[in-house]
Order: sequence, then structure tokens, then C-alpha cells
Amino acid sequence: NLSKRLQIVADYVEKGARLADIGSDHAYLPCYLAQNKQIDCAVAGEVVEGPFLNAVNEVSSLNLEETVSVRLGDGLQVLNDFDNITTITIAGVGGPLIVRILEEGKQLRKRTGQETLILQPNVNEQTVREYLMRESYAITAETILEENGKRYEIIKAKPADEKTAYNEKDLLFGPFLRQEKSSVFIAKWESEAEKTAYVIGQMEKAEQKDEEKLKELNKKLNLIEVMIK
Ligand code: SAM
Repeated sequence: NLSKRLQIVADYVEKGARLADIGSDHAYLPCYLAQNKQIDCAVAGEVVEGPFLNAVNEVSSLNLEETVSVRLGDGLQVLNDFDNITTITIAGVGGPLIVRILEEGKQLRKRTGQETLILQPNVNEQTVREYLMRESYAITAETILEENGKRYEIIKAKPADEKTAYNEKDLLFGPFLRQEKSSVFIAKWESEAEKTAYVIGQMEKAEQKDEEKLKELNKKLNLIEVMIK
């Protein structure tokens, strides 16, 4: 059984996908999808040897070698032209790393820009949404959930014909999540408001004030307060 978090990522993968799961660790996600005949095939990419071996073992113990190919390497570098990947999943890493992997993959022509992206940043979701907008992707679904005392956001995006103009609230909170305003969402932003107010307080005490950063944080705090009130 998948975790609640990975189950939602799995549910976002469309039937018949040719999947690249980057930072796959145990390859639980591609193995689950392969076992349930949801995907055509998958590449499970890992840059660290331990998790790579976890993935190799998982795939072989389930006899899924024909469907799930486990590869050692950085980001999308593990892909080749014959993979014809249609969906890329990257879950459980920070937003800036997701952006780096996608950007390097584009430079190296490891992705075409036509792939469906399903991303679960652990932190800094805003960076991911900003990148998606720059890359002319449209967010088609989002989920926020809580599991084992942690909150996660999952973002699904598809290439769009025209650039979607997300505003600053969409980018910070998520275009769907901010409309839905679930209880998990409110809890997340209540705690973000507290953290932000604390950082502002500390910065205001400092002798040398970073006015630029303070302004930015105050603006963010204001957006959050309006959102959750
Ligand atoms: N995706 C799984 C999940 O969501 O449960 C595993 C997440 S685990 C916390 C993050 C994994 O990403 C680690 O196994 C790490 O080795 C891998 N990773 C980090 N940077 C990577 C990169 N540049 N390329 C491939 N894998 C990477």
C-alpha cells in the first residue's frame, strides 16, 4: 500500500503513461502503477546508490523488470530518446531542486515540454508554480493533505497553448487550493503566518535591517492574513 501522499500522486498519473519517476527511492510509485497496469512503462531514476539499490530490489522482488527500468543518475539525465516519456513525477524533494531538475532536463533535451508533470515539493511550492508559469504550463489539479503530522502539496500541470497568467495569490497559495480553502490549507497558512511574523520580528530587532526583505515578508504576511481571516 502506498502512503496517502504517493497515492494521490499515483491517482494523478493517467492510464497508459510512460512514466519517469525521478528521486524514486524504493520505486514504490512506479511499482504500484505497474502492478495495477496503470502505466505502459516507467523509468525510476535515483542519484544516490542506497536508494537506487532499494529500487532495484523492489522491482526485482515484484518481477517488474520488464516494466520498470531502474537507473542511477542525476535528475532527467537517466532518460534517453527511446523512452518517449509522457509523464514526469518528482516527489519528496524541495521546490528549488524540482526546478533545477526540470531546467537541466530541458537544457539537455531530456524533456520536450510536452510531458505531464506531477510534482510534490516538500518546501517552496511557490518556486515550482513560478517555474511552471514561465514554462507555459497550466496547473490542472492540486491537492493539499496531512499525513503523519506533515502537510504536503501535490501539483499536476500540463503544457498550455497560451501562457497562463497566475497572480501572486495563485503562485503563493495555489490556484485551486486557495479557492478550495480546506482545513489543512488553513492550518498550513496559520502556521506560515506565525513563522513569517516571527522572522519579521527578529529582523526588525537587527541593527542592520534588510529593508527589501522585510518589505517582501510583510507583503507575504499580509497576503496570508487576508487569505485565512
Ligand atoms: N519520490 C519518493 C517519495 O516521494 O516517497 C522518494 C522521496 S526521497 C525523500 C527523495 C529522493 O530523491 C532521495 O532518494 C534522493 O536520493 C533522490 N534525489 C535527490 N536529488 C536527486 C537528483 N538530482 N536526481 C535523482 N534523484 C535525486
